[in-house]
Amino acid sequence: MLKIYPVLCRAGNMDNYAYILQDEKSGISAVIDPSEPEPIIQKLQELKLEPSYILNTHHHFDHTDGNLALKQRYGAKVVANINDSSRIPGFDIGVTPGEDFSLGESRAEIIDVSAHTQGHILWYFPKDKAVFTGDTLFNLCVGGLFEGTAEEMYAALSKIKSLPDDVEFYPGHEYTLGGADFANYVNNDNEDIQKYLHRAVERLNAGQPVCPVTLGVEKKCNPYLKANSLSELKRLF
Ligand code: ZN
Ligand code: FE
Repeated sequence: MLKIYPVLCRAGNMDNYAYILQDEKSGISAVIDPSEPEPIIQKLQELKLEPSYILNTHHHFDHTDGNLALKQRYGAKVVANINDSSRIPGFDIGVTPGEDFSLGESRAEIIDVSAHTQGHILWYFPKDKAVFTGDTLFNLCVGGLFEGTAEEMYAALSKIKSLPDDVEFYPGHEYTLGGADFANYVNNDNEDIQKYLHRAVERLNAGQPVCPVTLGVEKKCNPYLKANSLSELKRLF
């Protein structure tokens, strides 16, 4: 089994989430998308973990700026899409979309979702029912099209929609409240969205991240996942 610890980075500014992962069987740990080193190092010390890997979803600075500091401190290897190696700080190990990566006994499938950036990947742990979506899927919204087209985003979201409903997703930012405003605007009076928002506000007020949410719930509430055609999706951008 995989243990997952969200770490809020750039709090009150960009509200990134990094995630510390630990494979329970082997004890091997990793950090996904270290936005900045300090809050992550603090949490690692608390957990008494020294990560062997840094896993990136995409090259943007708010997901990779902690790569070098963590690499230096722990000797962790930076793992990212082989097709985006030149833009990943401290790149060590390339993963190819369609292939697997093992974190001890835990196994991730690498899924290409180029749209927010070219080379953006999902880290999907099927057995653990967890997917790390970076800046492709957020709570009730999606990432912007920095390097891709609506067509590419539609293809990327279709891949996410094809994952089982009981998989929980872990986004790259805490953008739930902004997403809820937009989701309400697109589809107000939707009871599922009201329930979603109610839970989200409770968790945020308690100082907890809104994640994880199951893809089943997200598919019912997120207007971008609800779009059933490319033209429907295009209207949302
Ligand atoms: Zn990004
Ligand atoms: Fe980001």
